[in-house]
Amino acid sequence: MPEHFEIHSEPDQLIREFFNNRSYSQIAVLTDTNTAAVCYPSLKSALPPHKLIEIQPGEEAKNLETCVTIWQQLTDQQLDRHSIVLILGGGVLGDMGGFCAATYKRGIDFVLMPTTLLAQVDASIGGKLGIDFNHFKNHIGVFQAPLTTLISPAFLKTLPDRELRSGFAEIIKHCLISDGQMWDTIRAKSLAEQDWNKLIPHSVNFKSAVITEDPKEKGLRKILNFGHSIGHAVEGHFLNSGHRLFHGEAIAIGMITESFIAEKKDLIKRQELDQICEYILKIFGKVSSVSDDRAILNIIYQDKKNKGNKILMALTKGIGQAVWDVEVSEEEIRESLAYYRSL
Ligand code: ADP
Ligand code: ZN
Repeated sequence: MPEHFEIHSEPDQLIREFFNNRSYSQIAVLTDTNTAAVCYPSLKSALPPHKLIEIQPGEEAKNLETCVTIWQQLTDQQLDRHSIVLILGGGVLGDMGGFCAATYKRGIDFVLMPTTLLAQVDASIGGKLGIDFNHFKNHIGVFQAPLTTLISPAFLKTLPDRELRSGFAEIIKHCLISDGQMWDTIRAKSLAEQDWNKLIPHSVNFKSAVITEDPKEKGLRKILNFGHSIGHAVEGHFLNSGHRLFHGEAIAIGMITESFIAEKKDLIKRQELDQICEYILKIFGKVSSVSDDRAILNIIYQDKKNKGNKILMALTKGIGQAVWDVEVSEEEIRESLAYYRSL
């Protein structure tokens, strides 16, 4: 079943419309300390009586211990099966809060209200919920769609620049794999000039259409992994080395290196590769310390997208289209990392 979305510039309007004609025995609003301070105030008066739950922000809190505190508060507040949880926050809160709601009393309704660009255009779509376990990201989780997802670009006003840029990487990805015209529109503008009111619905519609067609990632959904084979490996590598990259910053490197591989395989023209690299570098700059090819390759070999010991990737096929399950050699990956360093 397709997921349901509402997009509106006024977040309190989204809330009023959602709760109009619905009745719940209890409402819990889940926030982190940042979204409680900067997002919750604009909704407070539009919400029916509710309880506020506040947790610590950040990926470090995305663990079982935090789930226990959330389940405890849902229990203390006596939420029953006719209650609802409204999750107001970025991707971390959406994944973890959704997981807590989907498992509390075998599952109660939850609504996502994503407040980061990354969550609005990517993380909140597709029903993947979960938490990290030891050093494994999203190791424990379930698939469960929210009742609905309420999206307001207004929340982006308080979002730090680096978070905004990180989410923009997924928009760039969506354009490169699905819409050459939109790519031309975004690449004519800086980050600050982008029209989020157009770009957010564009990404949401695209991603949800892909997921509706291929929910279990048997084929088409794999195109969403463009930039993520090498990108995830770079992200994981930097996580271990202590110099943390934001997800979108790593995906920016992944999109450059994987576009290089696409050009090597004659899937895109040299001129298209140059165009992609020029714009991504303009927005993200260059991370000079991408140097340990062996370590990055070792992580790529663990990738869920591979088959046997073959490395498989999704690559652009001309700007605006993509193909998946393309076999890529270790040598091509090494060359692509050398290319990134040469830019
Ligand atoms: P992501 O969506 O990037 O996975 P998180 O849930 O970790 O992210 O959110 C990233 C950071 O941004 C967190 O510290 C979170 O509290 C903060 N944050 C989320 N939304 C907003 C917002 N609209 N304004 C300011 N800070 C926000
Ligand atoms: Zn991503």
